[in-house]
Amino acid sequence: MKENFENEYLNKKLEPKRELKFSDLENIKISDYEKFGEHSYDKENDSFEFKLGDTKINFSYHQPKISELIGNKFVGARLLSYHVSREDLKKRSDEDIADIFGKILDNVRVIDKFILKNKDGEYNIKEVFSGKIFFNFKKELSESGLDHASGGIFLTKDPLTPEGLVTLSHEVGHYESSRKDYENDQVLYDYKKEIGGIFRKLIDLSPDNLSKNFEEPATIVLESERSAWANAIKHLRPFLKDLKLNNKDLEKYIHSFCLQSYSNAIRSSFDKN
Ligand SMILES: [Zn+2]
Repeated sequence: MKENFENEYLNKKLEPKRELKFSDLENIKISDYEKFGEHSYDKENDSFEFKLGDTKINFSYHQPKISELIGNKFVGARLLSYHVSREDLKKRSDEDIADIFGKILDNVRVIDKFILKNKDGEYNIKEVFSGKIFFNFKKELSESGLDHASGGIFLTKDPLTPEGLVTLSHEVGHYESSRKDYENDQVLYDYKKEIGGIFRKLIDLSPDNLSKNFEEPATIVLESERSAWANAIKHLRPFLKDLKLNNKDLEKYIHSFCLQSYSNAIRSSFDKN
């Protein structure tokens, strides 16, 4: 087991060596609420407003037209890889495609407005991230995530649940950090995006042979995860009480689960040296 990295950031910021147990996740209750309000999203579009404690929540959504989905490169690519060839898709009409993908995409919705507001702050999610936010996305099509290429966020969860809101805020947090990078130094931004992206793929594939040359890419990935969480917490802080978000469990969720999984993946990549 590799004890020390040459890179100080990794030595300091990796989560401690700990086994990641999915069963631990069951003991983490990030909020006393199961859902924020009762919403089924069964209409094609809707707009509503409700209060939790002193926090007013404004939410509206629409069901995307098939072209909005297929026209989105990321979604299109995902669908293609699962179902039909690109050539096949070209020959088909929108209605045809809707038929094929209807069942998969039926539940997908797009957030048009999502604002949390109380006397301590306002979190206008679409103002921070103006790209498309798809939700109720089927897990078999995609993990939740931010897709830089299409500028979209994909959520498998309901954004009006504690885990959904926290995940959404994390993805928005990724966008905020990368935008800041872009504004500060475009060359560094491109470098981080490329090298970080390669490393993410590498840890997915669990390579046998990562040399210490990969310590810097590992740092980029860990840094990006940590700053996305910092941004998420910054936005959610004014609403913790009203949304009954438990600070301690939220910390546990972030550190012992999300960052732990990255830390473990990074460690095990180097272990195989
Ligand atoms: Zn992340």
